[in-house]
Amino acid sequence: MSDRDAPDRDSPADDGPDRDRHGRDAPDREPLLSVRDLNVSFRTEEGEVRAVDGVSFEVYPGETVCLVGESGSGKTVTGEAITRLVKSPPGEIDGEVVFDGRNLADLSEAKLREIRGGRIAHVFQNPQNALNPVYTVGWQIAEAVKLHSDASKTEARQRAIDLLDRVGIPEAATRFGDYPHEFSGGQKQRVVVAQALAANPDLLVADEPTTALDVTIQAQILRLLAELREEFGMAVLLITHDLSVVAEVADRVVVVYAGKVMETADVYDLFENPAHPYTRALLDCLPGRGSGARGIPGRLPDPTDPPDGCRFHPRCPYALPECGEGAQPPLYEFGDDHRVSCVYYDGSHDPSVVTEGGTPDRDSHPERDRGLADGGPEDGLADEKWEADDA
Ligand code: SF4
Repeated sequence: MSDRDAPDRDSPADDGPDRDRHGRDAPDREPLLSVRDLNVSFRTEEGEVRAVDGVSFEVYPGETVCLVGESGSGKTVTGEAITRLVKSPPGEIDGEVVFDGRNLADLSEAKLREIRGGRIAHVFQNPQNALNPVYTVGWQIAEAVKLHSDASKTEARQRAIDLLDRVGIPEAATRFGDYPHEFSGGQKQRVVVAQALAANPDLLVADEPTTALDVTIQAQILRLLAELREEFGMAVLLITHDLSVVAEVADRVVVVYAGKVMETADVYDLFENPAHPYTRALLDCLPGRGSGARGIPGRLPDPTDPPDGCRFHPRCPYALPECGEGAQPPLYEFGDDHRVSCVYYDGSHDPSVVTEGGTPDRDSHPERDRGLADGGPEDGLADEKWEADDA
């Protein structure tokens, strides 16, 4: 693993296992957000797409949790389902999303609107879509301030200027009256972040916020988000396909694949002791680490017809015949706050086969071998459908 890809080991997290990477006490407190058995499905002409299938995770106050997986794994839909941004129909959401003690699923749309953009703010991948081209950026931020507070017009204007300044827009007072097209891509994303902060959110859901930006600007935006998280005392749920970004900012990581959680762990544990074959395959693709492969062989399964058993089994080098039967394995404990959805951790198999790269105790796995040989599902639609759901 290159230095850039490794989590920063010089952080205060080294003070002990009960402290996070920022030196704060690890969570023995109540979660700010608790997502429990979240399901999101869409009715399409090809059939029902279960984009999110029984996903559960927590976000504690002040921490950064990364949802990571390949493009099309259901990450974006998960983030949007938290505040019911998924349009219904065609989407259907089921499960609990408990935020600060309240199940958001029970709230009316009006109550939810107060929370969305207020206590929970979203930042999306493409800042262009988040800004209205016919209003000045200052006006748009000031409106967000007024919407979630009783600030006067003058106070809202001043707060908008302060926020523009805080996110690094030079000469903020002058730029207040400029339109979105007068800003560069990186500056637009800064403006969107300022808008998201207008209501002092407790939770920022940031979906691939740097993907559309060049590498230098990406690093600046990530640094900005980390600073703002500290300064505003908010939690961040960061959705990304990029493990380098995860190493940069995460406290904890939730690895998702084909709508299911495969592994959850503290960021250091995940990078040092990756347990799930999918996580290991993702890490192997990082420059300077493992095989240096450019991708994981095979494809995501067809979301209208996911395989029985473990969703990853058609691509898994360790798959056993039982992996293709029944349901996704439960999340087995694998150390402190580390859980893995894989049969090797059920107590009756030898996990070192996976963790040390051993040979599975079977000669071959016909379905897996066929899947890899074909490069994935035969109809070639799977990636497109998952991509569409994640877009
Ligand atoms: S070994 Fe089986 S359960 Fe574990 S990841 Fe591979 S296919 Fe899934």
